[in-house]
Parts: sequence; structure tokens; C-alpha cells
Amino acid sequence: MKPLIILTSLLPVLLIPSLASADWLHEEAAIMGTAINVELWHGDVKQGRVLIEAVMDEMRRIDDLMSTYKPDSELSSVNGNAARGPITVDNELLMLIGQALMFSDITHGAFDVTYASAGQYYDYRKGRKPDGKQLADVLPAISYHHVRLDTVQSTIEFLQPDVRIDLGGIAKGYAVDRSIAILQAAGVRNALVSAGGDTRVIGRHWDHPWKVGIRDPRNRDGLVSTIPLEDAAISTSGDYERYFEEDGVRYHHILNPGTGDSSREIHSASIIGNNATDTDALSTSVFVMGVDKGLKLVNSLPDTEAIIIDNRGRMHYSEGLARVTQ
Ligand code: ADP
Ligand code: MG
Repeated sequence: MKPLIILTSLLPVLLIPSLASADWLHEEAAIMGTAINVELWHGDVKQGRVLIEAVMDEMRRIDDLMSTYKPDSELSSVNGNAARGPITVDNELLMLIGQALMFSDITHGAFDVTYASAGQYYDYRKGRKPDGKQLADVLPAISYHHVRLDTVQSTIEFLQPDVRIDLGGIAKGYAVDRSIAILQAAGVRNALVSAGGDTRVIGRHWDHPWKVGIRDPRNRDGLVSTIPLEDAAISTSGDYERYFEEDGVRYHHILNPGTGDSSREIHSASIIGNNATDTDALSTSVFVMGVDKGLKLVNSLPDTEAIIIDNRGRMHYSEGLARVTQ
């Protein structure tokens, strides 16, 4: 008995030297309504842990600014007031809305943050959707042309009274990019940050590229593919994240701005690119655009690839990936 007691009391002392050494660190947290994952290599474990906490704080800061679930977020205040005239907003929020509008332009309105004018009437947990009259009433409010930004005055105005915006299709990617910037500024060379379906990696994992799985949209535990990545971002938009079914029809969280109804040509769209803000917005965009238009857009963009699973379970690849998968 006695030697064992001595051993256990020595244990904390023996652990101290290893605490100061280099190691892979991993942390998970629930922020922005999703799972945040941070994994990194750091020469000083204690310092590495401080950096992971800084990333989690950054995620919370962005959520506090941009969540539509928080009544006191700046975005909620925009939604409550911008239809009455131009209101001054934080530069960072203004910039991200500006980027969202740019994606509306290049997708001809498939990506449109004013989808929320109808989106606010869906509750996927309670199985609630807008009725026909509600939808007809709010459809005219869905158009990014109703959002006027003035970057000189730092103001935003909605030109139609029923407009609501939601950054759910781009903010997680943006938060991932901000997190990677924090890690890079602190000298981290190998890391992965993910927020739900949006992931960005720098460097490698051990001596391999990072590997990010693409889920089988109809089998929770299955993967259809594993993508090796170095210094890249990947985002997946799927119809299995938040949904309910009624009369055999799936109502999920990615809406066609033209109809206010869920988009149903695709089960999942994954985009690979240089940064997570772009891949996030593009995965939502391609999901709405469908296979042909979506691939055409992706093939026209530099350093951007797509893997799409359509509503019959068939896989489609952008040109750069089709070359390597053949
Ligand atoms: P998630 O990681 O939450 O599944 P996605 O990147 O797949 O996010 O985007 C889905 C989210 O994008 C929705 O929850 C909603 O907030 C927002 N969204 C839905 N439809 C559109 C649209 N047509 N344009 C822009 N954003 C949208
Ligand atoms: Mg997205």
C-alpha cells in the first residue's frame, strides 16, 4: 500500500515538466449555436491553452455582435431600426454585410441575407413554417437590393419595411477566419479551427495534411469522402443540419430567396477555398443555385472547388477535383 501512496503523491510533480513542453492541444465548445473545435500545435502548452481561450472569446464576441437570437446584439438592433432610416453600425458588421451583398451579386441573388424576412417565420425545432399568406406578404421584402450601405457614413438602411437580415450563411466562416488570424499572429503554424460545417486549417497535422470529412447527408455517422487539406478552408451546407418533415417534405434551414421555401435540388454542397468566409457563403450559395449553375460559378472562381451531393445521392465535382478523382 505504502509505495502506491508515495507514487500518487509524486505524480503532480512528475507531470510538471511535461506541462511546459510542446504538444498538440484540442478544445471543443458550444458557441454560436454550434460546435467549435480548435486543434493546434504549440511549443508551450500553457501558451497554447491561452490562445485557444482567445479563439473561443473571439467566437463569443462575434456571436454577441451578429446573432439574431440575441435581442441586444447589434444585428438585432439593425433589424429593429434600419427600416426607419439610416442607422450607424459598427464597421466590422458593416464590412461583413458588404461582403454578403457582394456574394448576392455574383450569385444573382441565390445568396441573400434578406432571406430572413421569411426565415424568421420558420422554427425547425417546433416544426413551424410560414403559411401561404404570411409567405406571400413577406416575399416582396426578400431582396438584397433593399439593403443600402453607406461605407463613408458607416450606416445601413432598409428600403422596405418588412426586411430582416441574418448572417447565418457567412458569419461562422468569418469567425473561423478571425480565429485563424489570431493564431497566425501569435506564431502558430499548424492548426485547425471549425465552427459547425466551416473549417480552416493552417500547416499540417503531425506530418500529414489535415483531413476533413464530408458527411453522408442521409447517414449521420457515415462519411462520403475525406479531403486532405493544407492552408485551406472547407465549408459544407447540408439539408440535414436543421429541419423537420411534414407530409414527406423536408423543411430545412437553407431557403431559396425567390420562394421563401427550402431549396431541394441538393442534399449537401461542400466548397474548398482559401478562406472560410468565402467557402461559407459559397456553400450556401451553391446549395441554392443547384448543380449546374453552382458548378458553373465555382469553375469560374480561382482556387475554388466543390463537391455536391444531389437529391438522388449522386456526387458532382468541380473541374479541378474532377481531374483528380478520375
Ligand atoms: P450552417 O453551418 O448553419 O448549416 P450554412 O452555411 O449551411 O450554415 O448556411 C445556412 C444558414 O444560412 C441558415 O441557417 C441561414 O441562417 C442562412 N441562409 C439560409 N438561406 C440563405 C440564403 N439563401 N442566403 C443567405 N443565407 C441563407
Ligand atoms: Mg454557408
